[in-house]
Amino acid sequence: MSEMRGGLIEASETRTLPADVRQDQRKEHAMKIKQIIDLSIPLENCNYTGFQPDIRYMDHREGARFLGKALGLAQDDFPDGMALAWEEYHGITHMATHLDAPWHFGPTSEGRPSKTIDQVDLRWCISDGVRIDVRHFGKGYLLTVDDVKDALAKIDYKIKPLDIVLFWTDCDKLMHDPRYPEANPGISAEVTLWLSEQGVKIIGTDAYGYDMGFQEMAKRYKEGDKNALWPGHFSGRQREYFHIEAMGNLDKIPVDHGFTVSVLPIKLAKASAAWTRAVAIIWE
Ligand SMILES: [Zn+2]
Repeated sequence: MSEMRGGLIEASETRTLPADVRQDQRKEHAMKIKQIIDLSIPLENCNYTGFQPDIRYMDHREGARFLGKALGLAQDDFPDGMALAWEEYHGITHMATHLDAPWHFGPTSEGRPSKTIDQVDLRWCISDGVRIDVRHFGKGYLLTVDDVKDALAKIDYKIKPLDIVLFWTDCDKLMHDPRYPEANPGISAEVTLWLSEQGVKIIGTDAYGYDMGFQEMAKRYKEGDKNALWPGHFSGRQREYFHIEAMGNLDKIPVDHGFTVSVLPIKLAKASAAWTRAVAIIWE
């Protein structure tokens, strides 16, 4: 991002130079997109681990009947008897790829009222990405800071403020598999706070949830672990951060770092979460 910003500033400073020099400098500094990788899974009529959206698709003929009725027109008044298509949606916000706001985690964060999704600082949502490979940790495992440090050492990367950190579990491949909700390791409070302390504001995962599966957490709690329930989510009461759940295609990013992530959320007023069309941008 700093490179991109620098490029734009330098380009604007060349205004007084001759046109051919300006052109050459622009070529040198302009950042062109080489590839955009879709990091989202679809929101569709299927079961998201107990939550089921109801998306009703109105086709063009239904649209003509509906609008005709409202406007005192016949279906045939529209070209070929067809008007507009649209959809009616009923479902919770936490299905398919979405950004969770601190309000989801608790009423306060860092002692202040928690931000809702429409209050996210948009500068945090487009930033440098780093992918952390945790595919070898499975169901019921709670990630430690040492696990993350090891993974970062392997890719020779040091976290910096506003990095968007993506945990790569590969669980999106199980989206239509009953194992999906429980398959991923949990991102612990310890890991979340450690990343937050380094200025990270957004953390993502391609698993169903940020924490481990609901059943696994409940089992641990009943066995006596009083911190077993949503430890990652609840750490957001202590330190403010946002997370992206149910991403996809992290395996399609050709590099572990050196790419940009964009996760601008829908401006859903006062909400705990909203969908995002998450993408990775690879620059030329
Ligand atoms: Zn969520």
